[in-house]
Amino acid sequence: MDFNDTPEEAAFRAEARAWLEKTLGQPSGRTGARPDSAEWLQIAKAYQAKKAAAGYVGLTWRKEVGGRELSPIYSVIFGQEEQQFQAPVAPFSIGLGMCIPTVIAFHKPESVKRYVGPALRGEEIWCQLFSEPGAGSDVAGLKTRAVKDGDDWIINGQKVWTSGAHYSDYGIVLVRTNPEKEKHKGLTMFVINMKAPGVEVRPIHQMSGGSNFNEVYFTDVRIPDSERLGEVGNGWNVALVTLMNERLAVGGSAGPEYGEILELARNTPSPSGKGSLLQDQAFREKLAGWYVSAEGYTLGKYRTMTALSKGQTPGPENSIGKILNANRMQDLANAAIEGEDHFGIISDADLAPMQGAFHNAYMWAPGLRIAGGTDEILRNIIAERVLGLPQDVRVDKGVAYKDLPKG
Ligand SMILES: Cc1cc2nc3c(=O)[nH]c(=O)nc-3n(C[C@H](O)[C@H](O)[C@H](O)COP(=O)(O)OP(=O)(O)OC[C@H]3O[C@@H](n4cnc5c(N)ncnc54)[C@H](O)[C@@H]3O)c2cc1C
Repeated sequence: MDFNDTPEEAAFRAEARAWLEKTLGQPSGRTGARPDSAEWLQIAKAYQAKKAAAGYVGLTWRKEVGGRELSPIYSVIFGQEEQQFQAPVAPFSIGLGMCIPTVIAFHKPESVKRYVGPALRGEEIWCQLFSEPGAGSDVAGLKTRAVKDGDDWIINGQKVWTSGAHYSDYGIVLVRTNPEKEKHKGLTMFVINMKAPGVEVRPIHQMSGGSNFNEVYFTDVRIPDSERLGEVGNGWNVALVTLMNERLAVGGSAGPEYGEILELARNTPSPSGKGSLLQDQAFREKLAGWYVSAEGYTLGKYRTMTALSKGQTPGPENSIGKILNANRMQDLANAAIEGEDHFGIISDADLAPMQGAFHNAYMWAPGLRIAGGTDEILRNIIAERVLGLPQDVRVDKGVAYKDLPKG
């Protein structure tokens, strides 16, 4: 492992930081708008346009599609710096991180040209429509049907947990085009216009008070065959490319960490009434555990960054970091909220201790343990692909989708 930036990487980091300071002000600055509000979306779009004009988008992509052909480590470095400024990037992360790379890999050159520029400049937002009720971890078991009709396909079915569908212009959708084949072999992927007739987006109300994800219903939605990504029946392999791009999102944890909980412990009275939480023996033991876990996560991330810096692709061991990180965030937020006593229930950033960071983390952590692979699925990946243990039982191997038990 190499913990240091190379001279070129250090120069890029300094240049990026100077641009972020000029554009966004001081690190940890907040936009002032409630995340997910219309005002926040406009702020995010304006920031993305400036970022595109400054050349900090598509860093790893080919020059002919508007990229800079840099190694993935530069993307990680920019992401790390950007995260410290709490830049409003969430609406674009799925589109630019997963959908557009898939479009670039599988769409026709004229369509790539049509879609990439507006997405890079934040003018059009994309979402990923894979999960369905009954097909999340086992996404290849999805039901949404596409039937060919002349030059179009007609789509009927339902997706769920679609992040950002309510403000998206386009999406990539995985559907079943042949139920006679095995479940992985009868799928096809398309680009879908989210404003097309028959697409209905219903926001899901979350315990945080926000509505970041949605149910999406398709009733006789027409998609031209020219919007197909890859061959008919090859959707699973196209989806694997989308999911592989998700793996490069290794910037860091998106919530409060050891430093913040230490600060909270110093400034919060102990429940015993004697001194601060930092002097409470039980809390000190927890602090030690989080410190060890956070250090382990950081060192694991260095391993990933070293691989990226050498032009290698991070392997399945990356899953370890996500399990550690999501579980630590949940545990730490839970303990912080208990320690804050009745202040722990306040979510308003202007009133809550530490701008409500722990409250937000408490609400977000369960989702983090599910999105992009649940704890159990990631443990299966670690068992099979890192430790070389026997594969999970697969009762559906060689069985046509239509013959699989459903319900
Ligand atoms: C914040 C958030 C954002 C999301 N955004 C999107 C999005 O934009 N687009 C999209 O398509 N989807 C999205 N999802 C959906 C996400 O991909 C699924 O929730 C996830 O894949 C799990 O699927 P599921 O919810 O159907 O749970 P299930 O797969 O039904 O799992 C239920 C439980 O069974 C366990 N389990 C399942 N299979 C196994 C197994 N083989 N071995 C052991 N245990 C198992 C799981 O770990 C879990 O505990 C999002 C989810 C979240 C939380």
